[in-house]
Amino acid sequence: RIKMKNKILKYSILAAIIILSIVQVGCTKELQMVSDSTYMLGTYLQLSVWTTNKQEGMDTIKSSFERIKEIENKMSTNLDESEIGQINLNAGKTYVEVSEETVDIIERAIHYAELTNGAFDPAIGKLVKLWGIGTENERIPTQDEIQNALQFVDYQKIEFQGDNKVKLSEADMRIDLGGIAKGYAADEVTKIMKNKGIKHAIINLGGNVVTLGKKADGTSWKVGIQDPFEPTGTHMGVIEVYDQTVVTSGNYERYFMADDKRYHHIIDPKTGYPAENGIISATIITNSSTDADGLSTSIYVLGVEKGMQLIESLENVECIIITEDKKVYTSTGLTERFQIIDSSFQIEN
Ligand code: FAD
Ligand code: MG
Repeated sequence: RIKMKNKILKYSILAAIIILSIVQVGCTKELQMVSDSTYMLGTYLQLSVWTTNKQEGMDTIKSSFERIKEIENKMSTNLDESEIGQINLNAGKTYVEVSEETVDIIERAIHYAELTNGAFDPAIGKLVKLWGIGTENERIPTQDEIQNALQFVDYQKIEFQGDNKVKLSEADMRIDLGGIAKGYAADEVTKIMKNKGIKHAIINLGGNVVTLGKKADGTSWKVGIQDPFEPTGTHMGVIEVYDQTVVTSGNYERYFMADDKRYHHIIDPKTGYPAENGIISATIITNSSTDADGLSTSIYVLGVEKGMQLIESLENVECIIITEDKKVYTSTGLTERFQIIDSSFQIEN
């Protein structure tokens, strides 16, 4: 009997050693970066994940791109067959049944419209189309055209019925989620990566950046803030973050020049013209990329004073605002994590 007990003990110790060594091999397997990029949502997208299993990393990136395509097919203003396209085509006529997530994002956009007193307005579509900035139809509209379009920019005239039916109350109204849906896509990709067990990743959807976890070496990520006066990739400062998103709205990527004046794609719903209040870049740092996207566009339109007031009133939301005279305004929670690396920029606050 004692012999038998000893045997069992021996085998269990042996089993334990084998299990332990398997676990150890698993742990010491090196993390490697898997990265891929593509063009969607009218911009360059790059996803990088750190994984011990290259194939799994590649599959995760593939699923992420498929998910972004799905969101684009539902929420693009440019596609007549998208859910937003259908709402726009049926403006002033009928309710259109759309998916729950499309309703959610329209409602999130309306939340920011209410919070900013209409500086952010998802019903901006007619004006965006009129200016055509970033398309081959870009031009300065006439005063009459602008006055006419302004009548149809009003988020309060987006109507809902039941859980998922949406209608625009006037035939000339158009929804445009370009100021918020990229952030939503970034949040959805983050969710996919977390579900697949990824612990370290950088999601970059054309400047909408999400950092998942910390870097593989346990330190924070350093995200560069674009210098609005220099070519893409030149940074004026660096922000340290982990498990957060960094989203910038600027005047330096989608614009055209006419008579020495820059006409960019963030439109002030009060004037019908590109927002002009001194801001040339507004960056939001927070947890949700949907919120950061909505807020960065909002702050750009609101201007420094009202914008900063709004950010300081929100919990866990920080911002960096750059004005055309190279002044930099940062929210109070940011001081230690943000560093200017180009001394021609001056901290103002
Ligand atoms: P942000 O500041 O985040 O947003 C600016 C955009 O918000 C403007 O381009 C306009 O769409 C909208 N906007 C302007 N003023 C306001 C305002 N006051 N309130 C609310 N919103 C405002 N680009 C293409 O070139 N081709 C495409 O096929 C295409 N498809 C897209 C599909 C989807 C689902 C999304 C989300 C974007 C797509 N885009 C496309 C890009 C889009 O047109 C915008 O240019 C882009 O989303 C702007 O993002 P941003 O981060 O540069 O600026
Ligand atoms: Mg935005």
